Amino acid sequence: MDHNILVLKFGGTSVKDISAMRKAAELSLSHDFDQVLVVSSAVSGVTNKLLSIAEQLKNGKYSIEQEVQEIFDLHLAMGRELQYADEGLKQLSGLLDDLKKHIEKVIDSKTMSPAQYAKFPAFGELLSTTLLTHVIREKEKSAEWFDVRTVMKTDNQFLKAQPNFELIEKKTSEVLLPLLKEKGIIITQGFLGSTVKNKTTLLGRGGSDYSASILGAALMAAQIEIWTDVDGLMTTDPRIEPQARTISDITYEEASELAYFGAKVLHPFTLLPSRMKGIPVLIRNTKNSSHPGTRIHVRVEDDQYKGAKAIAFKKNITTINIVSSRMLMAYGFLHKVFKIFADHKTAVDLVATSEVSISMTIDDNSNIEAICNDLREIGKVSITQGQAIISIVGTGIRNLSGTAAKVFSAIRDININMISQGSNQTNLSFIINSENVDKAVQRLHKDLIELNPEFNKQDSVLCV
Ligand code: ADP
Ligand code: ASP
Ligand code: MG
Repeated sequence: MDHNILVLKFGGTSVKDISAMRKAAELSLSHDFDQVLVVSSAVSGVTNKLLSIAEQLKNGKYSIEQEVQEIFDLHLAMGRELQYADEGLKQLSGLLDDLKKHIEKVIDSKTMSPAQYAKFPAFGELLSTTLLTHVIREKEKSAEWFDVRTVMKTDNQFLKAQPNFELIEKKTSEVLLPLLKEKGIIITQGFLGSTVKNKTTLLGRGGSDYSASILGAALMAAQIEIWTDVDGLMTTDPRIEPQARTISDITYEEASELAYFGAKVLHPFTLLPSRMKGIPVLIRNTKNSSHPGTRIHVRVEDDQYKGAKAIAFKKNITTINIVSSRMLMAYGFLHKVFKIFADHKTAVDLVATSEVSISMTIDDNSNIEAICNDLREIGKVSITQGQAIISIVGTGIRNLSGTAAKVFSAIRDININMISQGSNQTNLSFIINSENVDKAVQRLHKDLIELNPEFNKQDSVLCV
């Protein structure tokens, strides 16, 4: 590594109040690296409140006072708890005034552009990082707040912006790296970006993980740590299955599949930038900081684990089915279909084809009408909403025969609407109705993971 830099990301619950922030500060100051970049989410629950305000205003509803007041009260109460409260409160009041002015402007103009919409949730991270900087300054005076929009350059899809990696790398080495070297510790916002014209953009819900990885890659950091509310990446969501256990070591390939197919602990694109630069990513629990968590890296040494490592799921999936006799023996048909999705900037997750039909799943319905209109030009289209993808993930699936048989036997009474196995054989995914997800995940976890003799081995890749 060029630089001995650590990037730490704290999620909403890790900065939910001043005592959580003091814990985050302690973690940010106790490490063996030369410099540390701290990336933070908004205080838990604040993004949802800000989005609700934006949504109401967009729909011409102006009874938002209570929610606005709650945001003011929450941050100002936290500000008053700071050791040196005056400066912190002054900055918080400045930001809250800006929020008020933004609301007034939107109400006056009676319309809201996507750019104006994106500015609402952005206040969450601006406020939380202001507080966190002051908390860290209680212990380390050189800690400095940094506006990530200076370097996190994106396109102008305001709510789900795509980072411009080249420009981000350039700006990071020109502005952020020298500042980091000078100060030793910088605190900045996850989730936010900005267009070339400096308009605020967002990286999509849960985007702070992605921010940490993008910045870590641009800085050529030695390590990226994602601090959250569970003991790492687990065999499934512990909220659904309490028997879920932490996976101590996992490859980028497996972790990326899990993130992409719904493991909420990581934003789906988090591992892209870190993987390109080979930077290890750790997932740790702020509330249980002595637990080693999960280490994601290029290759797990001696990974002989046989069978599935984890189960992910994603709800609110739509399946689109196209039947066309023109597909029969025709080349270029799939190209036409996927071009339509690309033109509408919508990603397809799973695909299954037969001689005359093609089924696909998407998790973003924003452009579904336009997509279906275009698809109708080439075939008969039907859509089904309220579906879920379940993905069984692990490179060890290919080392163990009978995984598919176990899967289908565990859920034999649940209707499977579509099946897809990745060609790398590290992912077996299928579609069921959303209401069956919990039941299916629990049974699959038991049969494929808990009952796997390797799960309980001392030297297995899993640890409690
Ligand atoms: P943060 O606010 O720290 O970003 P998130 O709520 O976005 O935290 O992500 C953490 C949550 O992800 C956990 O509380 C857990 O319920 C959920 N989760 C889903 N799948 C997994 C998994 N495979 N391993 C760990 N956590 C998971
Ligand atoms: N605060 C943003 C959200 O709630 C980003 C994040 O937490 O990662 O989506
Ligand atoms: Mg998150």
